[in-house]
Amino acid sequence: MAQAAWQDPVPLALDTAPVPAYGSGSLADLLPTLAAGQGVEGLTATIGELTPADRNCVFLIDGLGWEQIKAHPDEAPFLHSLLPTSLGNTGRPITAGFPSTTATSLASVGTGLPPGEHGLPGYTVRNPETGALMNQLRWKPFTAPKVWQPYPTVFRLADAAGVHTAQVSSPDFEQTPLTKVALSGGSFLGRLSGEDRMDVAAQRLAAGDRSLVYTYYSEVDGKGHRFGVDSDAWRGQLMYVDGLAQRLAEQLPPRSALYITADHGMIDIPFDERSRIDFDEDWELRAGVALLGGEGRARHVYAVPGAQGDVLAVWREVLGEQFWVASRDEAIAAGWFGPTIDERVYGRIGDVVAAAHDDVVITASVNEPHESAMVGMHGSLTPVEQLVPLLEVRS
Ligand SMILES: [Zn+2]
Repeated sequence: MAQAAWQDPVPLALDTAPVPAYGSGSLADLLPTLAAGQGVEGLTATIGELTPADRNCVFLIDGLGWEQIKAHPDEAPFLHSLLPTSLGNTGRPITAGFPSTTATSLASVGTGLPPGEHGLPGYTVRNPETGALMNQLRWKPFTAPKVWQPYPTVFRLADAAGVHTAQVSSPDFEQTPLTKVALSGGSFLGRLSGEDRMDVAAQRLAAGDRSLVYTYYSEVDGKGHRFGVDSDAWRGQLMYVDGLAQRLAEQLPPRSALYITADHGMIDIPFDERSRIDFDEDWELRAGVALLGGEGRARHVYAVPGAQGDVLAVWREVLGEQFWVASRDEAIAAGWFGPTIDERVYGRIGDVVAAAHDDVVITASVNEPHESAMVGMHGSLTPVEQLVPLLEVRS
């Protein structure tokens, strides 16, 4: 009897990876579309079928993906009433952008630019100037914000054009570099409680004939990371945030549009060896790698000089059935980071980029003990992470 032939692993073809809808339906398109509708010059409305409003409010719920809302009608009755199942609703999914992570998405929202231009293309990325990893969310080590992200935010452009502009968020974020590069322009109002944020957002919205107000809530993401999507703690947060959205919707002044969106969705990762591949314990994956960046489901891999080809080959062979594994130029050509890559951003992208297809992560138990222990994760191109709501309420 003939022996079964050895089966070489067949890597996922890169053209099977869903590419974010930059330029027509991504987070980067939202504020330019709203501000263009308010007459702010130099911006283009790229999301179709959004009727311009004099007063626009964006409520960004960290970590609440489109598919999670759809799966939880009982916990989110108000958000559900805005889904396109009801007659006349414009609610739809848009894409976050790659990677589907908070720092990247908030920069896309605030600048109105894809990651290849705003230059925050990951949770941690290499700073080509220093050769060290930089955490984009915590902005560590400190890097001059305006050098890292030189573009004006849409808030700044709107404010300069006479639109009353405000961000209502946690007081902790008022002075952070991420706020400075992504979410500044007009006035920042720090409020501790979710209820206060909704009330102040409604007041700021009413404070101008034309207004653009952003508000934010983080703990759906926090509970998802810690306990998992669909845990009791996560469901409790969903119920709470559903109430917040309704509270804000009920206070909208005339001529307003409220848009409820998110920075990414989330997926639970099983605690087993197949699902959690520990880079720090894997000599094969570590060979030739100088720095591991990104996060579990969206890795930037920086090779030692000359080893780029070998690292790509090994990563593709070992991981290619569970991850889309691309060279930097392949990921760029596929459009993962947007249509344009600024020169200063090119070297921030890994020599190899690995984006999870299955419910798997590449952890780093030694260097990233906190992140590696999380239950819920995000970062990749799959619909559960990538699709975020764009739900509309008008007054
Ligand atoms: Zn998160």
